[in-house]
Parts: sequence; C-alpha cells; structure tokens
Amino acid sequence: MFKMKYSIIPDFIEGVPKIPYRLGAGKYEGVVSHETAGYASAANEIMYERRNWKNAFVHYFVDSSGIRQCADHNYIAYGAGFTANQRYVHVELCRTREPDAFKKSYDMYAWLLAYILYRGGHQVVDNVTLLSHDWVSRNFGGTDHADPIAYLASWGISWTEHVENVKQAYLENQQEDEDTMKLEQQWQWKMLGDSLDGLYRKGVISDYTWAEKAYKMELSHSEIAWLNMVILARQQGVEV
Ligand SMILES: [Zn+2]
Repeated sequence: MFKMKYSIIPDFIEGVPKIPYRLGAGKYEGVVSHETAGYASAANEIMYERRNWKNAFVHYFVDSSGIRQCADHNYIAYGAGFTANQRYVHVELCRTREPDAFKKSYDMYAWLLAYILYRGGHQVVDNVTLLSHDWVSRNFGGTDHADPIAYLASWGISWTEHVENVKQAYLENQQEDEDTMKLEQQWQWKMLGDSLDGLYRKGVISDYTWAEKAYKMELSHSEIAWLNMVILARQQGVEV
C-alpha cells in the first residue's frame, strides 16, 4: 500500500486516444519529470491541453493548490517524443515565484512521482524509472526540451537531489499492508486453522468460517485479535 498523502483531482481531457504502452496497457516503465516553463495554474494548463492535445498532453499537472490528473496513466500521453511516450508516464510541475507555493507544489510532485512508480511496481532508479525530459531529449530524441533541470536548480535542487527526494517520498509513504497476517510457512497457517477447527468443535467459537479463513491464509491481524479476546473471555466464563 502507498499512503495517499495527497488527493488527486480528476480533470480528464475528453477524447484523448487510449494507446497502450509498448509492453501493454498499464505497463509503463517509469515516469518522466517535467516542468511547464510557464506560470499558469494546473487547471489552466489542462484547459490549454483540452484544445491542443493532438500536439501534446501529459497525464498529471501539479501546482501549489493540488495534483490534477488529465489523462489515464495506463495509456500513453504525448509528453516527450515517440520513444519515451511508448514507455513512460508524464508529470508536469507548474512554475511559481513564491517559496511557500514552491515547497507545497514540490512536495506533492515528489510524492506523485513516487506514487506512480510504486503503482507501476517500480523502484526509484535514476535515469531508468525516473527520468527528466532533459535526459529523454539527450538519449532518445524526438524531443528537445531540457526541463525540469533549470527550474529545479532555480530553487536549489539538483537532479540528483530531486531523485533522492523522490526516493525519500517513496520510503516515507510505502506501507506494509498492516492488516494481512504474514505467516511465512504453510504449516503455520495449517496450525492456526487446526486450532480454530478444534475450538469450533469444542464449541468455544461458533462460526467455522474462522478456520476456513485460516486454511485459505486469509485471516487478518484484526480478526485474530478479535478472536483471541472472545476466546479468552469465554474461557474465563464470560458470556459473549
Ligand atoms: Zn517537458
């Protein structure tokens, strides 16, 4: 699971094509980090793309007021030339001149890049899963932009630091699925199932589903905690 620290505002552009990535729909290989080179808001950038998507469109825009998604990231966008478009999700950071607004927008941007990589089953790997438009221009061609290097640098963030910030966001927001029991061995589940089966037969628990869930390796921590308390109470003669 990934912590949804920020909400994503849906602001989809109608009519954009649904072209799968080269590995298939949903199988993006990473994400390209862009900046808009302009001071328009995310909402206004999307309004512009609504009229001009045939020339270019991306999947997300971020400004200090939030994250807006304008295209389904399971399909390609026209963000950085043919080769990169076949492979990557595209995210734009909108410019601001205000330090507080920059901090807000950048935190969301780093979180979003990490979130997209996590959702695609990727780690944060410099120039492999996380790329700048600049790197794409120099290595894949079909495009000649050099963003977001200069804009990030204007706020004192080098590309290397940017990659580190996305890694940090990835680490901070990645969560173990706390409620799934993590028993490594099959026999542990069987033992748990046998225990619940036995308790059912002795009438300590009245629902056989618990044993079935254990055999199917589907019991959660919350369920086990609840069962423990009920069984303990009944053993002490408490009627519940
Ligand atoms: Zn770009």
